[in-house]
Amino acid sequence: MTEPWRPDEDGQRRGASGPVRVRVPAKVNLHLGVGPLRRDGFHELNTVYHAISIFDELTARRGDTLSLTMEGEGTGELALDDTNLVLRAAHALAGYAGVMPHARLHLRKQIPLAGGLAGGSADAAATLVACDALWGTGLTREELATVAADLGSDVPFLLHGGTALGTGRGETVSPVLARPTSWYWVVAIADGGLSTPEAYREIDRLRDNGAAGPPLGSTDALLAALRQRDPRVLAAALGNDLQDAALAMRPALADTLKAGQAAGALGGLVSGSGPTCVFLAADAADADRIAAEIEAAQVCRQARVAYGPVHGARILY
Ligand code: ATP
Repeated sequence: MTEPWRPDEDGQRRGASGPVRVRVPAKVNLHLGVGPLRRDGFHELNTVYHAISIFDELTARRGDTLSLTMEGEGTGELALDDTNLVLRAAHALAGYAGVMPHARLHLRKQIPLAGGLAGGSADAAATLVACDALWGTGLTREELATVAADLGSDVPFLLHGGTALGTGRGETVSPVLARPTSWYWVVAIADGGLSTPEAYREIDRLRDNGAAGPPLGSTDALLAALRQRDPRVLAAALGNDLQDAALAMRPALADTLKAGQAAGALGGLVSGSGPTCVFLAADAADADRIAAEIEAAQVCRQARVAYGPVHGARILY
């Protein structure tokens, strides 16, 4: 059993009186190996997560009830009710720690909705970190990761950030000890999202019909490539088993991938379940040039430059 709360020396619960602001990154999967469907309805995954510099921000303030407002990507589209991962995370933390889920939460969203960049999971991770500080619940990183895993397979990684291996349904995260290197990415954001559960159903269907490429299997080549610090080597090792599914659901993504190749990207792939496509550039200047060419080709809503790896959910103040 978890203690309901940890008292301060004077017996009072610790916590922030002012606002707590947390920044959380998007993720891409450098390798997304999708294994068989498990009995619990999830697929066995073998993935390498990588946190990139596109951020959402969650601000938590003291309040008499639990409320959520937002601005940015998905405003007017994303429900602000109890289905929102921010509110689900706040309830989950409060339940775990035995406190009342009272806070005024505000989300500033830059990560596109249903984009394959795990924006919802990122927001859940940010909420856990922000509310833990606001309420003074003082959970350890391990305890937060336990609550996170119940909220979604990608949430533990978004607490963690960096580059990490994900196994199980993705919720078991171990850091990849690569030498410190920044990789430069062009992130081609599409109009509209793709549903992750539908992408998994589609890959099962394609595999049943023999219409999917061979599964990627082990992450060994990707992990070895990360150690070499050469973007050309990393580009050759990138892979995503869900790419066939995303292309079947959104054939126009083939044009986006071609535009990246034509612009001289070292490698490119669909991010997670799509429809965002990411391209690896040789350096920051190359990324700027590739982003401009992809935008000029009009194959996506926006092409942004990002770097990685970056930290997971962290308090700004
Ligand atoms: P993943 O790569 O983790 O599968 P994704 O990037 O494709 O996810 P998300 O933006 O995380 O997609 O959202 C998937 C769905 O989760 C959305 O369509 C929305 O219905 C729901 N959702 C709930 N809360 C949030 C939130 N705070 N931000 C985004 N989506 C949310």
